[in-house]
Amino acid sequence: MASKEGLLFGTAGIPLSSKAPSTLAGIERIHELGLGCMEVEFVQGVRMSPQSACAVGEVAVERKIRLSAHAPYFINLNAREPQKLAASRERILQTARITSLLGGSSIVFHAAYYLKDTPSKVYATVKENLEQIVSKLRAEDNRIWVRPEITGKGSQFGTLEEILQLSAEIEGVAPAVDFAHLHARTGKDNSYDEFVTILEQIEGKLGRNALDNMHIHVSGIEYGPKGESRHLLLAKSDFRYVELLRALKDYGAGGLLICESPNLEEDALLLQQTYRAL
Ligand SMILES: [Zn+2]
Repeated sequence: MASKEGLLFGTAGIPLSSKAPSTLAGIERIHELGLGCMEVEFVQGVRMSPQSACAVGEVAVERKIRLSAHAPYFINLNAREPQKLAASRERILQTARITSLLGGSSIVFHAAYYLKDTPSKVYATVKENLEQIVSKLRAEDNRIWVRPEITGKGSQFGTLEEILQLSAEIEGVAPAVDFAHLHARTGKDNSYDEFVTILEQIEGKLGRNALDNMHIHVSGIEYGPKGESRHLLLAKSDFRYVELLRALKDYGAGGLLICESPNLEEDALLLQQTYRAL
């Protein structure tokens, strides 16, 4: 699915300045602001009826706003207890089904915790579960991109390498590249040259199509030895977003860039304006 729209900018959830705290009002506000996309946040659970998802999807098409969705936080594809594992898979499936009705093309989620397991064991477990999830969705004729996210803490599964490897090995899986998380994991990955290296790694592993259809998260971020502690405004953080935007522009990256800063649309607009002015 080649994208001709280039890079679209939007918010993680309903903009703070929306008239009402509803997905519908959020899309209208994104449109008014001149942004291009919105991530629907199902982080506390998928609570939207199929009927409203279809209605929201129609408005998104009318307004030309692209949608994606974030699955619930309560997901661990490495859970010990079989019922927790089954519930985790179900939450990803529910998110994918409702997002398909919304007309969205991607869902993102934090796949797993390492607990006390080795990364390679967790990788194998996550892979097996994702394969099951994708094949179930395809059997339902759901073509959504299933995107495990690069996570911000050392205790969470989801390094750049792990996410790219999963994406290379499973058809229908693609990376959710959270540049703030990547930076928070080590304190590195915060310069033009490093951003370029990451983009080249993505292209090398997954091909040009992956750069044309990226799913990106950006925000300011506070971090310590264990990684991410909280999201910050870009202006209050050390994140070199101008260098990131320059790298994305130089490599012609397309897709959705979702801003997760606490002020949502203000930083999303700052990112969009900065990108356009480059
Ligand atoms: Zn996330």
